[in-house]
Amino acid sequence: MSNLQSLDKTYVAGTYARFPVELAEGKGSVLRDVNGKSYIDLGSGIAVNGFGVGDDQWIAAVTEQLGRLPHASNLYYTEPCVKLAEMLCGRTGMKKVFFGNSGAEANECAIKVARKYSAEKKGAGCFTIVTLKNSFHGRTLATLSATGQDHYHELYQPLVPGFEHIAAGDLEALKAIDAEKGVAGVMIECVQGEGGVVPLEAGFVRGLEAYAHDHDIPLIVDEVQTGNGRSGALYAYMNFGIQPDIVSTAKGLGGGLPIGACLMGERVQNVLTYGDHGSTFGGNPAVCAGAVSILSRIDEALLSGVRERSRLIFDTLTGAPGVESVTGMGLMIGVKTAKPAREVVARCIENGVLCLTAKDRVRLLPALNIPMELLERALAVLRDACGA
Ligand SMILES: *Cc1c(COP(=O)(O)O)cnc(C)c1O
Repeated sequence: MSNLQSLDKTYVAGTYARFPVELAEGKGSVLRDVNGKSYIDLGSGIAVNGFGVGDDQWIAAVTEQLGRLPHASNLYYTEPCVKLAEMLCGRTGMKKVFFGNSGAEANECAIKVARKYSAEKKGAGCFTIVTLKNSFHGRTLATLSATGQDHYHELYQPLVPGFEHIAAGDLEALKAIDAEKGVAGVMIECVQGEGGVVPLEAGFVRGLEAYAHDHDIPLIVDEVQTGNGRSGALYAYMNFGIQPDIVSTAKGLGGGLPIGACLMGERVQNVLTYGDHGSTFGGNPAVCAGAVSILSRIDEALLSGVRERSRLIFDTLTGAPGVESVTGMGLMIGVKTAKPAREVVARCIENGVLCLTAKDRVRLLPALNIPMELLERALAVLRDACGA
């Protein structure tokens, strides 16, 4: 084992099953390790580096702001945060934004907003948040409790009470919980990312929206992974023709720096008032200046490029030797392979391609602007790895 890997084992909490790659630098969709070996990146730092690593316009926007005012407390006004909130509302029709630093925090805010809204509207006994089985909403205790996968829960009992998980597609289960004790909020991912890159059925999503709307239940869409162009639309819910009350997002919004945002629509826009919530780093000027640069470039030209790249991936891998199925949406794709996914990923690493896993699938989250020629080369490597 290298010195770096053994020091990591000694000093860094062992929470990640890292692949044996020591990254040193990168540009766009090409990363280089400490030995100078280069890799085509199909993971984007888990859907974070939407424009690839070290995008020039993003670096310029962040460094300019770093030189001007890198941090201020939320007791004062700063322009990048306001500008980003205005852009997010303008692009989505949402009315207000709360900024945090991660996806989990964006979801914590969403849960608080739904609970407060429902407590005020329906009484303190209405606190239950319904999420889906196989979902993933984060690692903090509340978002872990929201996550519908038992293996994340085992060692952290007791969890935060007031979460129920229903099967995707089972609208009747939601109605039953609502009849029994009232529902304070419903939270979904339009494409379950960590759950294996599984899109929800459009009819179910629209049924949820209709039920939530008719029964005054805030609908929360977790766009932490699916958002910011990843699905081929600005936010994945836009592909389903619904209008959520609350949208949480993070990962790709920051272009490589930590950010989380909770967007609140008309129905819940005034729920949070002085003192209800806060974050020291939330809305940080340098981070927000970078996010403004990213969001301003997620336009129709970029999104049609995402859909074009998506088609190339589906066409190349569907029916290829050793590939059992290809699922997903836009540039968020899961590949069920005959061989164990981790073996396929290891073979790709040997041959200079970085991809991820999600449950038993190989997961692809390339940069939204990955050059077609690089994508084709990487897919040839992946195709070989699945079949060989
Ligand atoms: C990654 C992810 C989260 C958690 O985001 P963090 O930034 O790691 O806290 C929450 N929800 C979904 C759908 C995610 O993919």
